[in-house]
Amino acid sequence: MPQILSGAPVQARILENLKPRIKNLSRPPGLAVVLVGQDPASSIYVRSKIKACHDLGIFSESHEIPATVTTEELLVLVDKLNKDPKIDGILVQMPLPKHVDTRRVLEAVAADKDADGFHPTNVGYLVAGRPAPRSCTPAGIIELLKFYEIPMAGRNAVVLGRSDIVGKPMALMLLQENATVTICHSRTEDIEGVCRRADLLVAAIGRPGFVTADFIAPGATVIDVGINRITDAAQAAAFGRAEEFAAKGKVVVGDVHPVDVQRCAGAYTPVPGGVGPLTIAMLMSNTVELAEKHLASPDQTTGAR
Ligand code: NAP
Repeated sequence: MPQILSGAPVQARILENLKPRIKNLSRPPGLAVVLVGQDPASSIYVRSKIKACHDLGIFSESHEIPATVTTEELLVLVDKLNKDPKIDGILVQMPLPKHVDTRRVLEAVAADKDADGFHPTNVGYLVAGRPAPRSCTPAGIIELLKFYEIPMAGRNAVVLGRSDIVGKPMALMLLQENATVTICHSRTEDIEGVCRRADLLVAAIGRPGFVTADFIAPGATVIDVGINRITDAAQAAAFGRAEEFAAKGKVVVGDVHPVDVQRCAGAYTPVPGGVGPLTIAMLMSNTVELAEKHLASPDQTTGAR
């Protein structure tokens, strides 16, 4: 039987380790979350982030802005948050409406308040292997691999997907852990063959059950980042989730075929319950780290400090 790499104990440990650090600070860390429009999934994510702050004693505020907002108006808000001394981290919930210049908004967030690790300065620090806020989902995966003592150094790691928020930072973080890293994407030839050479396979493409038995070397560790909602009964049944579908009318599956991975992998993260819980934990971790830096050297930070 493969080992199931559940996210819950990793999340619990990350949050537990943050508590004494928060207590040691002269004021609570502060996170501002900007939510534009009323996308139901984004609203749920934002509520979970605010709740996580509340549970840990992190000050938080959410700015809920109508979808008609202009880029300029958002830039004014970000500038205000950059200068607010109560705020250590700023998170702009993605996706933004099409008419908003996402890149300009993300780049307007001060690099030393970039709770998501998306700012080009922080991406540059990641490339250079220097400390800075890291993109939360891949940073959480590194924590999970360490928690379960899955070796990375010298192993063949294949990352499926090259997005700026998951695939690319994941590959860089694995490289920093001394893995030998390959990145696959929609133009990769013989993608099954490349993935089959992986000791450690990370799938982040947003295609339900794309990674089948043909992709998985016997005994490999498989990390499934995908979150795909299935609303078709036959598709749910093909993923071995007929009963759950009958009860709920929908199921969530990852990018890895849930039946095949149980058959082939040595260890894997389930969906749900694997990588999912780690993203918010790492957001909390980034916020606390930013607060520690701001309080240690208040003059060197952005804006009003
Ligand atoms: P994204 O921005 O849409 O990027 C998808 C990547 O997958 C792209 O690099 C794309 O290649 C590649 N890809 C798509 N179809 C492919 C195919 N058939 N073969 C090979 N490569 C293919 O997605 P993302 O934001 O990275 O998210 C990926 C998945 O992770 C989604 O299901 C998302 O919901 C989930 N996610 C989960 C969490 C979490 O907390 N658990 C966090 C973030 C994302 P090209 O670049 O060539 O187009």
